[in-house]
Amino acid sequence: MSYRKAFYVVCGLVVSLAALLVAQQKRPGYTDTAVLPGQEWHVHDSNRPHPRMVAPGKALGDAPSDATVLFDGKDLSRWMQQGKGADKGKVVDAKWTIANGYFEVAPGTGALITREKFGDVQLHIEWSEPTDIKGQDQDRGNSGVLLMDRYEIQVLDSWVNQTYADGQAGSLYGQWPPLVNPIRPPGQWQAYDIVFESPRFEGEKLVRSATATVFFNGVMVHLRKEILGTMVHRAVAKYSPHGDEEPLSLQDHGHKVRYRNVWIRRLQGYDQPER
Ligand code: MG
Repeated sequence: MSYRKAFYVVCGLVVSLAALLVAQQKRPGYTDTAVLPGQEWHVHDSNRPHPRMVAPGKALGDAPSDATVLFDGKDLSRWMQQGKGADKGKVVDAKWTIANGYFEVAPGTGALITREKFGDVQLHIEWSEPTDIKGQDQDRGNSGVLLMDRYEIQVLDSWVNQTYADGQAGSLYGQWPPLVNPIRPPGQWQAYDIVFESPRFEGEKLVRSATATVFFNGVMVHLRKEILGTMVHRAVAKYSPHGDEEPLSLQDHGHKVRYRNVWIRRLQGYDQPER
């Protein structure tokens, strides 16, 4: 083979290899398709960012890799309480009791409040009702999950216990009863999976109500239900302006309700994959 011929063969190989590399680097999809209505992307857009990887928990209900674990069975360091008596006006370490991987309301000590603040979130929380059944109506196993420290998803022993519908377990307290009652008997673990969209204020003015989607023991009981305002007893709830982020709190209603496996995910730009 002449030098010239060898030169052309080598050049051909280099060009072929480059073309192959370019073809391999081309992202799957299309850019010559129509633009999706209301979006900036073409149908099957090859340039559309891909959702980031999140490792799910090992078992159902376990925290995924991007969650903030608020209670892992060991300590309440991510929580605090408002001081009482000599500590009135101060923030104090959480006084609720911890045992066997759960924590329990310490009646009379007040609400448990996260040190961190949150806005739009996905929350997983498990709870269990006392087995020494006392009281009835609202006076049986009452506690609550208060998003932004004011919007309550009711926790109550609603197993063979009559109360008003908008106050039973799974209700948006005083506003919306759950669509069904999927509660388990006292002593068994129950789970809430909640997607909460925080309200939006412009100055003092409410421009978008909060909503809650709630799965109660895996059963959907609220679908993007509009929250009327801050939880209140015997009155119509209304909004008072507050920050974009507020703590999560758990209610002390004087009953020894237990909680475990609490984790939360911040939802930012939740209608689009993150960029
Ligand atoms: Mg309550």
